[in-house]
Amino acid sequence: MENCIFCKIINKQISGSILYEDDICIAFLDLSQVTKGHTLVVPKKHYKNILDVDKHTSGHLFEVVTDLSKKIVNHLKAEGVNIVSNANQVAYQTVDHFHIHIIPRYQKEEGFKMLFEDNQGRFDLQQVVNEINK
Ligand code: AMP
Ligand code: ZN
Repeated sequence: MENCIFCKIINKQISGSILYEDDICIAFLDLSQVTKGHTLVVPKKHYKNILDVDKHTSGHLFEVVTDLSKKIVNHLKAEGVNIVSNANQVAYQTVDHFHIHIIPRYQKEEGFKMLFEDNQGRFDLQQVVNEINK
C-alpha cells in the first residue's frame, strides 16, 4: 500500500535490518530497539492488524515468531521474551500494517513495561463467556 512504511521495507524502497524473509513474511529489527534485538514480524501482503488478517497468514507468522524468538533469546543471551501485537489506536498501534513485536528481555527494569491490573470481581465471568459465544 502506498505511503505504508512497512510496504516500503518489503518492496526494498527503504532499507531495513532484515533477519528473515520468505514468500509470506519478513522480519526486521524495530528501529526503536526497545531492547536489544527487538524485532518485527510482518506479512508481505498489507493487512491492517490481527483483526483484518486471515488465519493462514497469521498462523505462518506465529510459526516464524516461535522460531525467531528462540533464536534471538539464545543468540543474544536474553532471559525471556514478550510477544506483542497492537491492533488499532486504542491498543497503541502506530503503524497500520499488521506486525508482531518480539521483545527479548534481559532484566525487569528496561525499555519495556506492561501493566496487568487486577480487576477480579468486576465482571460476571459466565456472562462474559456467554456474550463472547453468542
Ligand atoms: P506499533 O506501535 O505496535 O504500531 O509499532 C510500530 C513499530 O514500528 C514501532 O515500534 C516503531 O519503532 C517501528 N518502526 C517504525 N518505522 C520503522 C522503520 N522504518 N523500520 C523499523 N521499525 C520501524
Ligand atoms: Zn503496508
